[in-house]
Amino acid sequence: MTRGWIVFTDLDGTLLDANDFSFAAAVPAIERLKAERIPLVPVTSKTAAEIIPLAEKLGLMGPAIVESGGAIASLEGGSWVVTPLGVPVEQIRARVPGIEARCKAKLSLFSTMNDAEAGRTSGLSGVALQRARRRQFDEPFILVEGDLACVARAAEQVGLVVREGARFHHLCGPVTKGEAVCRLLATFAERPCVIALGDAPMDGEFLALADFPVIVRGLDGHANVALLAGVPDAMVTDKPAPQGWCDAINSILDGATRYADEPARA
Ligand SMILES: [Mg+2]
Repeated sequence: MTRGWIVFTDLDGTLLDANDFSFAAAVPAIERLKAERIPLVPVTSKTAAEIIPLAEKLGLMGPAIVESGGAIASLEGGSWVVTPLGVPVEQIRARVPGIEARCKAKLSLFSTMNDAEAGRTSGLSGVALQRARRRQFDEPFILVEGDLACVARAAEQVGLVVREGARFHHLCGPVTKGEAVCRLLATFAERPCVIALGDAPMDGEFLALADFPVIVRGLDGHANVALLAGVPDAMVTDKPAPQGWCDAINSILDGATRYADEPARA
């Protein structure tokens, strides 16, 4: 029996266009994964409230890792269930004043920004923005004043971590995207062959676990330098999202098919 496959993917800037969040150019590869019964698991800083309608639009029936590893949303008996892995956001927010005082820093939190600022910073509006702000295990922030390294150290001292996304820094519990991916991989009797795709430094947490790590090139034409440094053996797509995502999936699966078809050498 051939080994199974699974795809773990970041969304914004990886599967979705970084500006308009379109996935149209990725549809052929999404359909191919469905036809070959390869699970496609979103690994995202998005909330369960955002991911559920998107998963339904993409036709995904499997689990999704949300809020940067803070929880796993899965479809059970026709309804979505959120299994927490991280620190509840009320506890994260309660620790922010202490972190600010320690570092003489000022953090602008996504949850307390006014709608105009939250919209400008996230690139979202309307219902999408409201869904994005329904966070349960992760607080995105902009550092207005102070030193990020100091904030990261102070966060660690109160049981939190600071991670870097594309638009925000994120303050969350110590569960990583990588640990959430490991939790899901542990449910397989035999570890499947893993393709993982991302575009931001935080994605290195799960790209490093993959058999086929892929970095999707940014709109500026470059792979993220910090992510590439963390996963130097990753494939870098020629194009940004969503076309680069589609090309990478097809190229890896085509290569695997060719390899499987090659006669064994004596
Ligand atoms: Mg991204």
